[in-house]
Amino acid sequence: MREADVIAAIATGSGRAAIGVIRLSGPELDRFMLPLLGRAIRPRWATLTDFLDSDGRPLDTGIVLFFPGPHSYTGEDVLELQAHGGLAVLQLLLRRCLALGARLAQPGEFSRRAFLNEKLDLAQAEGVADLIEASSEAAARAALRSFKGEFSQAIRELVRNLIALRVELEASIDFPEDDAVAMSEGGMGSRLQGLQGDLARIQERAASGSILRDGVQIVLIGRPNVGKSSLLNRLAGEEVAIVTEVPGTTRDTVRSDLLLEGMPIHLVDTAGLRATWDPVEKLGIDRTWNAVHEADVVLVVEDVQRPVPGDRDWILEKIPVKARRIMVLNKIDIMGREPGRSEESGVTRVEVSAKTAAGIGLLRSAILEASGRPPESEGVFLARERHLDALKHAAEHLDRAETRLSELELCAEELRLAQMALAGITGEFTADDLLGEIFSKFCIGK
Ligand code: GDP
Repeated sequence: MREADVIAAIATGSGRAAIGVIRLSGPELDRFMLPLLGRAIRPRWATLTDFLDSDGRPLDTGIVLFFPGPHSYTGEDVLELQAHGGLAVLQLLLRRCLALGARLAQPGEFSRRAFLNEKLDLAQAEGVADLIEASSEAAARAALRSFKGEFSQAIRELVRNLIALRVELEASIDFPEDDAVAMSEGGMGSRLQGLQGDLARIQERAASGSILRDGVQIVLIGRPNVGKSSLLNRLAGEEVAIVTEVPGTTRDTVRSDLLLEGMPIHLVDTAGLRATWDPVEKLGIDRTWNAVHEADVVLVVEDVQRPVPGDRDWILEKIPVKARRIMVLNKIDIMGREPGRSEESGVTRVEVSAKTAAGIGLLRSAILEASGRPPESEGVFLARERHLDALKHAAEHLDRAETRLSELELCAEELRLAQMALAGITGEFTADDLLGEIFSKFCIGK
């Protein structure tokens, strides 16, 4: 597919820097060279040149690279101007490119063109965006693997095996009497189980990757004044929440993002839980429960010197089953107790002091364990929610196919639907509006 127009954008981040890059992509870019550079440029060769204004005077001096299509990122002609990285210089140069007939690129438009020209599939293009967004080394490595096509390859391999099975199944439907092509129900069942196993392994790798990408949501709850804000500050290592001696100060939720051994964590401090008539405080408590419902891990904090009988039970009961929970007994310094960790009917208990930091290491490792500890990036696919959904749908169709082995037409239809779900990941069957949604989340210049 050829786009008619030339797009241009500043590809590097905003702010001052030694070098800033402007990228152009579109058909016949050599026509920009004479007015902009005063000469034709040798393809794929770093050339030191002046960038010229409309009167032929230099705007800046830098390196230019020319990648004629189809051997470029977008599959079209691409011109990269490496100028000095000041905002004024780059704006002047960009304006000059627009005056020469380019238009400003939309977010993600370079990658969208790469996708439409089949230089990248959809999962690879998403890998590019995730690599740019990656907040940890493990996430960056996993995103790079998606960009290089490892995730797509695993999906394609599965689709290939699925197609092979569909072909044999269709032959059995068309020629039921022919022993040479008809498959037995048992043979069919074991092939299907093989596919289910392969899919389950991909799902597992994708699920760990989605934690690396989206992070783990950890929510602190407990009575006012037990030390939730102090714990958040300890874990985050900075002053993010207000710590005071008046109960009920954290009336809203306070969020802090941190990396714990490479794992992105979103730590949320909440309003203290207690019976109250104050409408503002009530609102805060409602928000607390909303945060708890979205939590992966909940830290139930208690003041070790003032445990409230029965408190723990009703709080633990209200936490949704999908969330892991950790009891934190805080302020051990007041009682002169040593930090410690124990298990009590399936709930981890950690005794700490937010004030002296005693036991904070134990709490960190309990949090990491409860979060599923995926920071090893090896073999993990940095999957998005969209990918997890598609894998889940494909698995459901395979499961249904297994229950319909005696009705071959129905079984064949389930296999077809499973294939469609998987193909959506790499973008082979993807609606235009979904493509628009995906690429609009990219940054400009990518
Ligand atoms: P929150 O209402 O649960 O968020 O509690 P805060 O973090 O605001 O703490 C309430 C009070 O307890 C503050 O005066 C803190 O300094 C104090 N505090 C918090 N953690 C500890 C601790 O481990 N030891 C001691 N001695 N005091 C603490």
